[in-house]
Amino acid sequence: MSRSANGNTSRPTGLAAVPLRLLGDPVLRSPTNPVTEYDAHLSRLVHRMMATMYAADGVGLAANQIGVGLSVFVYDVGEGRYGHVVNPTLEIDASAEIEVGLEGCLSVPGEHFPTPRARRAVVRGVDVHGKPVEVRGEGLLSRCLQHEVDHLEGKLFLDRLTPQDRRVALAAYRSPSV
Ligand SMILES: [Zn+2]
Repeated sequence: MSRSANGNTSRPTGLAAVPLRLLGDPVLRSPTNPVTEYDAHLSRLVHRMMATMYAADGVGLAANQIGVGLSVFVYDVGEGRYGHVVNPTLEIDASAEIEVGLEGCLSVPGEHFPTPRARRAVVRGVDVHGKPVEVRGEGLLSRCLQHEVDHLEGKLFLDRLTPQDRRVALAAYRSPSV
């Protein structure tokens, strides 16, 4: 997920960022596969994803955004709320309040658009070592968790916009004005 306003500055990780896959790339529309090997390859993937997210000044990144079809995402929404989740499952209370907030995506560079999301969400999964993790989010973190799990299921935030906003978003993406 991209940053919508003046947040914290990106932090250097010393690792090389890799190119982002952009709207139109089929990998973004393909549901990812569960991770089964908790090895050095997985740790390197998470480090590479963090480096790429910080280099792009994003607050979240899913593995398929760098062309890797595995169920992993990383996030950093500031104030020490950062990490990664492998094989996440999203849980939203049926009675959860829906908040419409501005949202954008590193794979769809351009404007941010009003996007409805549950105000609170919980993600459960494991870390790079296969140890269970749980992330409870509210506000921006909740939005980010839902955005990244959508990616891993082959969905984009564009799918959640009003038809009118989706047309504007796609038009802006096809002919960037800046
Ligand atoms: Zn995104």
